[in-house]
Amino acid sequence: MNRILPQIDFGLKHLLERRSDAPPPNTGSSGVRKASWKKDTRSRVVAQARYDHLTRGRRAQLCVDDVSVSFDGFRALDELTLILDQGELRCIIGPNGAGKTTLMDVITGKTRPDSGSVFLVGDTTDLTHLSEHEIARRGICRKFQRPSVFQSHSVLENLELALPVGRGVFQSLFARLSSEQRSAIEQILEIIGLKEEREKRAGLLSHGQKQWLEIGMLLAQKPRVLLVDEPVAGMTHHEAERTAEILVGLAGTHTVVVVEHDMEFVRSIAQTVTVLHEGRVLVEGPMHAVQNDPRVIEVYLGVD
Ligand code: ADP
Ligand code: MG
Repeated sequence: MNRILPQIDFGLKHLLERRSDAPPPNTGSSGVRKASWKKDTRSRVVAQARYDHLTRGRRAQLCVDDVSVSFDGFRALDELTLILDQGELRCIIGPNGAGKTTLMDVITGKTRPDSGSVFLVGDTTDLTHLSEHEIARRGICRKFQRPSVFQSHSVLENLELALPVGRGVFQSLFARLSSEQRSAIEQILEIIGLKEEREKRAGLLSHGQKQWLEIGMLLAQKPRVLLVDEPVAGMTHHEAERTAEILVGLAGTHTVVVVEHDMEFVRSIAQTVTVLHEGRVLVEGPMHAVQNDPRVIEVYLGVD
């Protein structure tokens, strides 16, 4: 604890400087809300200090710290701590029920944990206190298995609609975009390999192409962290290979988390792999080390 005390001071100063952290008005004479504000602020300061401590010396982007989630007394996540570095492609694997989906739900604000914190680098806000919408606005984007593209609009229009500005303006033409926006879209079309299909209606794309388009739509929002849930489910072998190329291509410039059951796919993209088991990190490291780890073999026995 002594080692993190200087960070607590730093965190306290930082937090008290922020107007949103000022005590709420009308605390009145009851002092109850005042006390709860104090407690809340103290726990946030401690959480921030831990974040500083955990991420020191790393190029961290996201820190999940000591998160627990229970469902009817069953611990789906059990004091889970996970740090993602900027620009890394992290695969999260683990047998069914390991807590992978619950972890994604906590990071995106769909599930509020019983305890623990989530921080983005450079932001003192504990994301577990925010709504899903507020978290998305801070740049954490999640791609679900089922693609949700606008079927009756072209590939280009879909990407255009995904841009942070101009969203919802169906009439806007590509020509009306700024040159910066146009080149961002061109770049995305290149990344997702849909240059030739730019005028095609999204509804006419193959399953794989729709998935890539949706990845493109998330990229258009310039995410700080991109969470991708089982990207190759339902894909052909060729489509899965192409998806691997796209995700590997994003690493370096994007922080990407892939949750996937398909071990062959994980092997084809994996840099650092985190294996979850019973709501905890069982093993973390490079794929070759992880797949030969006896603990991993044991929990995966019969699965792969
Ligand atoms: P994974 O995605 O790794 O298969 P999950 O995060 O979906 O695992 O689930 C972890 C554990 O939590 C499982 O045992 C699951 O049954 C349980 N669980 C998940 N969501 C709920 C829920 N909403 N209510 C009750 N139990 C849940
Ligand atoms: Mg799941």
